[in-house]
Amino acid sequence: MNGFHVVLVEPEIPPNTGNVARTCAATNSALHLIKPLGFDVDDKTLKRAGLDYWHFLDQANLPGDSHEDDYGLTRYGQLYDNLDAFFAANPGRYWYATTHGGIRYTDRTTDESHELALEGVFVQIGLLPNTEWLAGSVDLSDRGEIVIDDRGQTSMPGVFAAGDCTTVPYKQIVVAMGAGATAALSAFDHLIRTPAPVPA
Ligand SMILES: Cc1cc2nc3c(=O)[nH]c(=O)nc-3n(C[C@H](O)[C@H](O)[C@H](O)COP(=O)(O)OP(=O)(O)OC[C@H]3O[C@@H](n4cnc5c(N)ncnc54)[C@H](O)[C@@H]3O)c2cc1C
Repeated sequence: MNGFHVVLVEPEIPPNTGNVARTCAATNSALHLIKPLGFDVDDKTLKRAGLDYWHFLDQANLPGDSHEDDYGLTRYGQLYDNLDAFFAANPGRYWYATTHGGIRYTDRTTDESHELALEGVFVQIGLLPNTEWLAGSVDLSDRGEIVIDDRGQTSMPGVFAAGDCTTVPYKQIVVAMGAGATAALSAFDHLIRTPAPVPA
């Protein structure tokens, strides 16, 4: 039984292909190579990159022999003359990834769609803190960050905060850890200066 099917269309670099083959073997995925290849399947660097793993990708004209692994799983690799031959043999849903494409996006402020020719996309996430539940109890910035001073003190006496959810300017692990220590020490400082409640 195979998980993913990975298809390399006209791969050109033998060690990269060997590395992908090794990843396929390790993740129980099938590998499909579409000709023309930029190398021979006997290429030394191709073989070396997938060394010890090629035999998990059996049934193919790829390096290695048919093999069942310790779990009785048989993975496979196939070589096709062209993309049409691949489609004919493998009906299903396809997901495409290419360095020759672009991105289509909709601008949320204008609802206009745009298309950009790109060679890569970097996704930046995690900018909005989950602090809605604090609204009305401690002061929040217009981005929803908990407003703190340099001791981690919030607008509510005795309540301290630290990390990405605060107004600290840099959102990094080491900054959050340091701020956590600051908030903890400030809480301690607050407690030792607070008189104990008088018993009734
Ligand atoms: C994609 C990405 C890559 C990053 N790469 C780096 C990096 O390379 N180096 C670096 O230094 N920093 C990096 N950061 C930033 C770093 O992850 C943060 O600065 C750091 O994790 C902040 O720590 P924190 O404890 O303040 O918040 P978090 O690590 O976000 O922890 C907050 C926790 O609170 C939980 N939580 C939220 N709401 C509630 C609720 N209502 N009740 C209970 N629990 C709740 C969340 O589930 C989460 O577990 C990266 C961040 C992202 C998103």
